[in-house]
Amino acid sequence: EVEYVGVTKKFGDNTVLDSLDLRIEPGEFVALLGPSGCGKTTALRILGGFETPTTGIVKIAGAPMTDVPAHRRGVGMVFQSYSLFPHLTVAQNIAYGLALRKAPRAERTARVRELLDVIGMRGFDDRYPAQLSGGQQQRVALARALATSPGILLLDEPLSALDAQVRASLREEIRQIQLRLGVTVLFVTHDQEEALAMADRVAVMRAGRIEQIANPTTLYNDPATEFVATFV
Ligand code: ATP
Repeated sequence: EVEYVGVTKKFGDNTVLDSLDLRIEPGEFVALLGPSGCGKTTALRILGGFETPTTGIVKIAGAPMTDVPAHRRGVGMVFQSYSLFPHLTVAQNIAYGLALRKAPRAERTARVRELLDVIGMRGFDDRYPAQLSGGQQQRVALARALATSPGILLLDEPLSALDAQVRASLREEIRQIQLRLGVTVLFVTHDQEEALAMADRVAVMRAGRIEQIANPTTLYNDPATEFVATFV
């Protein structure tokens, strides 16, 4: 599981995370929901290893994450948009992490084929990102993040650049893939509908803290504060 313990992050005088506590069970899909600037992305980036807490720690499977080298933490990440390598083909993008680990060619080819199946894009191996729609690019980004079989998948507003129809179908697809692979997901969004539709539990954030964390039904029917009620 993943555990944030008293995580504070400051940028200068700006306290972006304020003693954040959060525990995510294995295989759980948790959404961080909140207004712009409340610290969602920062919380995600810490687990991704892109930022370090000012104080507090994050544990993965019981051990402080910094005790484990980044490539062994089993954390994959999908960003908002335009994160594929433009000069690499779809297959090369997906195999990128495996190539870094010097996985044998046969293994890479097999894994690419498997993941193209998972994302419903068989036959797209040799396309370049510019030749794909936004939704297809995000599917490939998802496949790339999954290539090394991470136990934890971080999704930072992965659907926000897409049009409504594609967004709705990808929501469903991401959820299906997550359940099928049993991967733990931490999903950042400012879209309440998206969070409520996809997550096992939604953490509503405000000014660097979690105001309430609960399953969508509880959050919707029984908001703990005025802020949660207005936001949800
Ligand atoms: P959004 O939905 O707009 O991305 P968010 O809830 O994800 O918002 P963060 O991106 O975590 O919020 O940012 C929280 C605050 O931290 C913002 O005020 C932002 O300006 C500030 N911040 C984030 N990264 C840095 C940085 N590297 N240096 C300085 N300030 C930063």
